[in-house]
Amino acid sequence: MKKEMLYSGKAKTIYKTDDPEKLISEFRDSLTAFDGKKKSEAANKGYFNAQISKKLFEMLEEEGIPTHYLGMLSENEMLVRAVDIIPIEVIPRNIAAGSITRKYPIEEGTVFKIPVIVLDYKSDEYGDPMMNEDIAVAMGIATYEETAQIRAMALKVNEILVKYLDEKGFLLPDFKLEFGRVDDRIVVADEISCDTCRLWDKSTGQSMDKDIFRFDKGDLSRAYEEVARRIVPEIFE
Ligand code: UDP
Repeated sequence: MKKEMLYSGKAKTIYKTDDPEKLISEFRDSLTAFDGKKKSEAANKGYFNAQISKKLFEMLEEEGIPTHYLGMLSENEMLVRAVDIIPIEVIPRNIAAGSITRKYPIEEGTVFKIPVIVLDYKSDEYGDPMMNEDIAVAMGIATYEETAQIRAMALKVNEILVKYLDEKGFLLPDFKLEFGRVDDRIVVADEISCDTCRLWDKSTGQSMDKDIFRFDKGDLSRAYEEVARRIVPEIFE
């Protein structure tokens, strides 16, 4: 049963349940970018992202990657395991886009033969600065064993998602993962959706992700719906 709100983020609200080991993650229609400076709403965004995330978590579980996903309670409410979130944004990159092209002399569209794993410290206060293994250990937010495991898991998730999304007609330039601890295990947490991935249509090269909102590239709800049609066609039957 849904109980009091635990935390409300930029796109999701987390609620407690009767069971302290389980939480409800509600995907909302709100959108933010540029550290919350740009804000909006998009119809059905929460629904499409929740369903896409559900499908990708289920697929990862089938491939042997543990996640916090437990099930869906409604169209946009996901039941998840309560985890201790490690405040590191883990970003596997396959094609250069976004911040890596602004911070380094790397041109957008450059294909990385070896995926690049970027770690950022998840902190609005500090502006998500770059993180690495030594800083994480020095800050006491993870051990070397954990950072090694996170890196290996991120590479594996990337491999699985690139292949899966390629079959659906998408390129996956980059995406953001968060990891959490539960019973001394590390699991993939948060969400994997159009808000947290760059997805480019393979034939047109068009963005089908939050860059539509960041850079006013068109109708976000329509693009997210098209992604949902390819990844979770069953919800349109
Ligand atoms: N990302 C995210 N949350 C963040 C920052 C980045 O989900 O707080 C995702 C983003 O959607 C993209 C990838 O991580 O798929 C890499 O983002 P980047 O570092 O390029 O930042 P951006 O230029 O998008 O702000």
